[in-house]
Amino acid sequence: MSARHFNYEDDWENEILECPKCHWKGTFKEAGPNFFGEVMDCECPNCDFFEAPMLAIVNYSVGDGTDQRPRILKQIQSLETPIGETGNPALDNLE
Ligand SMILES: [Zn+2]
Repeated sequence: MSARHFNYEDDWENEILECPKCHWKGTFKEAGPNFFGEVMDCECPNCDFFEAPMLAIVNYSVGDGTDQRPRILKQIQSLETPIGETGNPALDNLE
């Protein structure tokens, strides 16, 4: 399996991703992104949590190693309804 790779400027919001295992199809946001310092990724929301393949990675690094989450989360949340449920472990590790 190979995850799709995007840059933040790319049209990842409208790309339809497909799970190689269960053939779920949907957008990055429908899959439920996980946010990290310089990238976000999403796994299949339909597969079992521990076996869900990674579907896509969006790179929003600006190249200097800074944590982009505050900026990106603000941008995304201002565009869309709130993302998934709280309790995303990736967000608890904000440095
Ligand atoms: Zn799946």
